[in-house]
Amino acid sequence: MTRALIVGGGVGGPIAAAALKRAGLEPVVYEAHSGPGEGLGAFLALAPNGLAALRTVGMLERVRAAASFPTTRIEFVNGSGRRLGLLGGEDHLPAELRGVTINRAALQRAVADSAVDQGIRIEYGKRLAHYTESGSGVVAEFTDGSTAEGAVLVGADGIHSAVRRTLGPEGPSPSYVGLLGIGGYSPAVDAQPTPDATTRMVFGKRGFFGYQTAPSGETYWFGNLGHSRLTREEIAAHGDDVWKEYALELFRGDLPDITRIMRACDPAAFRPLGIYDLASLPHWHRGRAALIGDAAHAVSPASGQGASLAAEDALVLARCLRDIRTVPEALAAYEQERRDRVERIVAEGRRRGAQKAGSANPAALLLRDLTMRVVFELAARFGSHAWIHDYRVDFESRAATSEGNQR
Ligand SMILES: Cc1cc2nc3c(=O)[nH]c(=O)nc-3n(C[C@H](O)[C@H](O)[C@H](O)COP(=O)(O)OP(=O)(O)OC[C@H]3O[C@@H](n4cnc5c(N)ncnc54)[C@H](O)[C@@H]3O)c2cc1C
Repeated sequence: MTRALIVGGGVGGPIAAAALKRAGLEPVVYEAHSGPGEGLGAFLALAPNGLAALRTVGMLERVRAAASFPTTRIEFVNGSGRRLGLLGGEDHLPAELRGVTINRAALQRAVADSAVDQGIRIEYGKRLAHYTESGSGVVAEFTDGSTAEGAVLVGADGIHSAVRRTLGPEGPSPSYVGLLGIGGYSPAVDAQPTPDATTRMVFGKRGFFGYQTAPSGETYWFGNLGHSRLTREEIAAHGDDVWKEYALELFRGDLPDITRIMRACDPAAFRPLGIYDLASLPHWHRGRAALIGDAAHAVSPASGQGASLAAEDALVLARCLRDIRTVPEALAAYEQERRDRVERIVAEGRRRGAQKAGSANPAALLLRDLTMRVVFELAARFGSHAWIHDYRVDFESRAATSEGNQR
């Protein structure tokens, strides 16, 4: 049987393993951390396209059981609370494919546990250093000195991918999008709860804030703060209390609920992370190695699509390896099938992110609000985001190379 080495046991790695097993390969996952979901606090939204991909590989039920609550609509308001638009409404979809919010660690545990239940081996504490390729195989070398050999290697090792460093060292590095991200969970506070299954996103005067009330009464929230790039050391040097004060100051003058929610939260939630994306690599594959998920194309969180795209990648890659004769041809077909869609979504995420930093100029804010109202009105009326959420990977159909060759 053809062994597939998957580097990275985050979101995309275990999904790829399940898809490759269905495609008749023998996948093994190598994850740098010592267990699934280690050290991850934030949460993310899973969209219908990602949930559909999880259903294909038998992981949907487990992921839904681990989800915190449904999120099927987004209400956009300005800092004064005036509605700019309402997107979503997924009543036309089967209930199991309607969007959810899930804690990132819970998602990683759910896909890892589900992969193990499907008979897949995950080795923890294995950090890839680099890999080498011979004509018929690929050898992964880990920082503990051990090695593993397979016929194909999949880099599912995230935005700072080590696989990418070997596969395409000439390519660009991730770009800072000009925003710092903060966020966490606040205990029940005296704030107006969000409507059922709805995240409220606030285009504030000097920052962007999103929140949703959980059934437990907790508030899940995040903020994006426009800022020049900072290193981790520069961020840590300020201390979490200083960052909390900074965030409170930035949102002063916006909806008072934002202040209430943030005040109730532990200062650790305010230590920001720089937000990066990776728009377009020269190639996602070389020889017997390919990249999926953030390693190939990190989208800004503004798109809400990173995890869902990693799941789609996993399915397309497995389908190509199942149906196309040689590994290099299969990997080329995978990249060809995915690139346009993914790069359009990365560009969309950048556009959305660019509106988030706010402005000191009231006229600029007025113009932004007017523009956003038109954009959301058009999106709601013509369903112009449907191409993102309604996309489905047809795993059963046969893949072909660009020349039409199959196995
Ligand atoms: C603040 C924030 C908010 C987000 N919000 C959303 C959202 O709402 N919706 C959404 O869909 N996406 C969101 N995303 C993006 C989403 O989290 C990622 O796109 C998704 O996790 C990508 O999955 P992945 O498997 O490619 O990478 P990851 O999930 O990052 O997994 C990579 C794994 O590889 C491991 N690894 C790294 N290096 C090595 C190595 N050398 N050897 C072995 N293992 C290694 C890591 O430990 C990790 O477990 C958000 C991201 C951020 C930062």
